[in-house]
Amino acid sequence: MNIKGSTNIVGLIGHPVEHSFSPPMHNAAFEALGMDYAYVAFDVDPSNVKSAIEGARSLNIKGFNVTIPHKIEVMNHLDEIDEVAALIGAVNTIDFKNLKGYNTDGIGAVKAIEEVTPIKGKNVVIAGAGGASRAISFYVAKYGASNLTILNRNVEKAQNLANDVNESGLIDDVKSDSIEEINNCIGDADILIDTTPIGMHPNVDDAPIVGAEDMHEDLVVFDAVYNPNETVLINEAIKAGAKPVYGIKMLLYQGAESFEIWTGKKAPVDVMEKALRKTLNLE
Ligand code: NAP
Repeated sequence: MNIKGSTNIVGLIGHPVEHSFSPPMHNAAFEALGMDYAYVAFDVDPSNVKSAIEGARSLNIKGFNVTIPHKIEVMNHLDEIDEVAALIGAVNTIDFKNLKGYNTDGIGAVKAIEEVTPIKGKNVVIAGAGGASRAISFYVAKYGASNLTILNRNVEKAQNLANDVNESGLIDDVKSDSIEEINNCIGDADILIDTTPIGMHPNVDDAPIVGAEDMHEDLVVFDAVYNPNETVLINEAIKAGAKPVYGIKMLLYQGAESFEIWTGKKAPVDVMEKALRKTLNLE
């Protein structure tokens, strides 16, 4: 990387940030396209979010990714918020051209799934009702799913999210239920999305939310967990002959979308995926 007086800065704010996979992924993209950009991570204390945004603006920083715990707080310091990000209630990307906030997490998941099957017209089941589920649910609705069932351990949280998605008007049919009902839901489902941390390192031997015997061959199974790459749920999907979608693809496409928002250029997805796999020790 050749940092010069003209180099444009983009980056990440969060707390902590040192284990982020985004710097190598974005810097590989800038290098591959010969763009005069550098991506850096900034550890920002929660008490300093406002001053970090103001400072970045003064320093002519071009864009930020935003991670835990700042995704909600940053919304108070922006001029504009993308319509779906406002529905989700969280921002993970800031474009300083117009101080506008976006949420590319959900886009990342739907693009990962759409590598395998279109979402339009599909019956989608999503497990979990936390931050990732919220971002993905609104985008599944926006991408035209025919119906969506949100399952969660805490059923009230699933109900609240289902109500919010219903009220958005993006989709007609949203239901909620206990995660214990999963076996009764996936027989008719086209796409299963798991946003629980079940199977995440170091709990790689957790029992999956559903086993191969209850899946069918036409089911697409996406697990948001990306460490390990092959989670218990992905293994069950492979065993069942279902179509697996790996969590790393969500990371990849959320990054690609942010890149395009900041630069206006098509993201070199292959280069970004290679860098991500290298950082995750997958090759
Ligand atoms: P979160 O807000 O804490 O939500 C976690 C959800 O999982 C809650 O609905 C929780 O249910 C449920 N859950 C937790 N443990 C469970 C268990 N043992 N059994 C059943 N349900 C359980 O977390 P998040 O931010 O949504 O993140 C969730 C996962 O997505 C994490 O593993 C994270 O690494 C992954 N993720 C991946 C990407 C990517 O790019 N691939 C991006 C974001 C997140 P209750 O409400 O009942 O507690």
